[in-house]
Amino acid sequence: MNQFFEYYTQAICPDTGARAGVFRTPHGIVETPRFMPVGTLANVKTVTPDQLRGTGAQMVLANTYHLHLQPGEDIVAEAGGLHRFMGWDGPMLTDSGGFQVFSLSQMRTITEEGVTFRSPRDGARINLTPERSIEIQNALGADVIMAFDECPPYPASREAVELATARTERWLKRCIDHHRKSSQAQRQALFGIVQGGVYPDLRAQAAASLQKLDLPGYAIGGVSVGEPPELIEAIVKATTPLLPEHKPRYLMGVGTYREMAQAIASGIDLFDCVIPTRLGRHGAAFVRGERWNLKNARFRRDYAPLDEECPCYTCQNFSRAYLSHLVRSQELLAYTLLSIHNITELIRFTQRIRQSILDGCFAQEFAAWLKPAP
Ligand SMILES: [Zn+2]
Repeated sequence: MNQFFEYYTQAICPDTGARAGVFRTPHGIVETPRFMPVGTLANVKTVTPDQLRGTGAQMVLANTYHLHLQPGEDIVAEAGGLHRFMGWDGPMLTDSGGFQVFSLSQMRTITEEGVTFRSPRDGARINLTPERSIEIQNALGADVIMAFDECPPYPASREAVELATARTERWLKRCIDHHRKSSQAQRQALFGIVQGGVYPDLRAQAAASLQKLDLPGYAIGGVSVGEPPELIEAIVKATTPLLPEHKPRYLMGVGTYREMAQAIASGIDLFDCVIPTRLGRHGAAFVRGERWNLKNARFRRDYAPLDEECPCYTCQNFSRAYLSHLVRSQELLAYTLLSIHNITELIRFTQRIRQSILDGCFAQEFAAWLKPAP
């Protein structure tokens, strides 16, 4: 793509659209498919960068909307950029703020120019436009930055989704023009986002026009906003093959076992989701495809690790009984230990899928996950 970014496919599954590849960024490589942990406010909640490295994390996310409100991108830039500020020297991605503006903020006004909303912190009026989003992301300095998009809610009328999708396309062109003028243009890859709600033909139209723009990467946005899992699967299955083959493909906001396996089968490479840390803070653990609640009585005297095959710090050092005790006592260490395990588990799941694609046995090995949701 340029001297800083490259994506190539290493293997393609003979039975599905799944692919194993490598995405090279200025801060290192991402072996795909891979789950990306979310560090909303320039930290993955309760986990230090060293611990995060230990989970197998390669690329990490941060949120433009949240960092713009606190501490503000000028402070991050003065501190030397997001990597230095948060002590993470690996690949990073920032979202555009679009999703948060549309999902979190009340009292917003949308015009062709952009979105105006009240800061939930102090009520100040904030104006976010495609140009501002790019400027903020340029100042934050992540390797991958996202186009500012309009993310329609679910459910939404076809007419509303049509308008949002068309506006997202116009906004993308403004993002591209503005990023091109930035001093960061070469060192930051701008990904475009396919919107279109649950309407396959709108998704297809959006994918077709994005493809013409020859961007360094493409994302599917506006899924996992409350629609049933079978609709997410159908949208991803229909849309992913329409994205360029030789560019990384990112499914935004998705990160359960089944959703990831199905999306990988459609040809998705990257995922992000807050689920491993959020569930960790609720005392839940992902173990071999299941979700366990550590408050459950059966764990009180269970002295085995969460998963004896898991290489994570938590499973190597602590028992289910100890984790259950920490959760019941609401000790802060519970959240750190469960987050470390949950992130490791979801990354290992995508790593195992990656290996099976390289070995040519993905469709057989992961057949149970590729069936429709029960
Ligand atoms: Zn573990």
